[in-house]
Amino acid sequence: MKRVLITGAAGFLGSHLCDRFIKEGMYVIAMDNLVTGDLRNIEHLRSNPNFEFIHHDISKHIVIDGPLDYILNFASPASPIDYLKIPIQTLKVGSLGTHNCLGLARAKGARIIIASTSEVYGDPLVHPQTEDYWGHVNPVGPRGCYDEAKRFQEAITMAYHRHHGVETRIVRIFNTYGPRMRLNDGRVLPAFIGQALRGEDLTIFGDGSQTRSFCYVDDLVEGIYRLLMSDYAEPVNVGNPSEITIKEFAEEIIKLTGTSQKVVYKSLPQDDPKQRQPDISRARAILGWEPKFGRAEGLQITYDYFRNLPKERLYEEANHREF
Ligand code: UDP
Repeated sequence: MKRVLITGAAGFLGSHLCDRFIKEGMYVIAMDNLVTGDLRNIEHLRSNPNFEFIHHDISKHIVIDGPLDYILNFASPASPIDYLKIPIQTLKVGSLGTHNCLGLARAKGARIIIASTSEVYGDPLVHPQTEDYWGHVNPVGPRGCYDEAKRFQEAITMAYHRHHGVETRIVRIFNTYGPRMRLNDGRVLPAFIGQALRGEDLTIFGDGSQTRSFCYVDDLVEGIYRLLMSDYAEPVNVGNPSEITIKEFAEEIIKLTGTSQKVVYKSLPQDDPKQRQPDISRARAILGWEPKFGRAEGLQITYDYFRNLPKERLYEEANHREF
């Protein structure tokens, strides 16, 4: 039986990856420090004999008994609100945490995939973003702690690949949504759906002309799985190229939820990228992958998940505990 370590396993993406690797018949070691993760996301797996959970912060040395075939490094705060609240932990998990994961991969002879992000392109001057674009990032702005941690993460991953021959994969993840996103993580989709469900107005930052391209989580997981199983070490964009302005997105959510609330405009956060769309030619060519879920289908599944949560979860405060 193949054994896989998933870091950030109690988070949105990590928990879906746990489901997928259990389904593939692997033994899953799930690791999380629960700073932004939530054990409720993996509760259904806790009694599975092929699953174990380890409460650990990967920026400290990682000890795993026994062999490992794969490591998926998905530990990091990933929403602007989260990483603004805990910038130093964000920098540490991306740098020290990734270093520890790479060292573990080297020691165990495991293949490792690193969760990178479209944020490595910053506020991009090339559109749509191809993997050979080096980006337009402000290192000292509020997003610098995340963007530069992720850029360092890519650099150290390539160094382990080139210098130590570790089998590495880098996925650049674009905006992704689906069940188990945290309602209070500040990202636009849980923000809008949470506001609609609580009967509040939807907050658009800036004039809403900035664009994003939203990928449903099952599509993303499929892309990650295929990349891990490939022999390709250069970065690969995985996301849905269907681009929409935030204003249009708010209108879609208003229609979907049937809310009678309106939109209100708030100031645009500093360095908020004006446009973002993945060029997925590489994923198509190398992985034979492209997204299958349109927004209508993906948003319906996601809304159904949120509206069936116990009402009190709509009012939970974000809880960034120091570990
Ligand atoms: N946004 C918004 N209202 C909100 C939350 C976010 O208009 O309540 C905007 C945000 O300014 C950004 C876009 O939605 O332009 C996507 O933000 P998100 O935090 O989801 O992710 P990002 O792609 O910026 O990392």
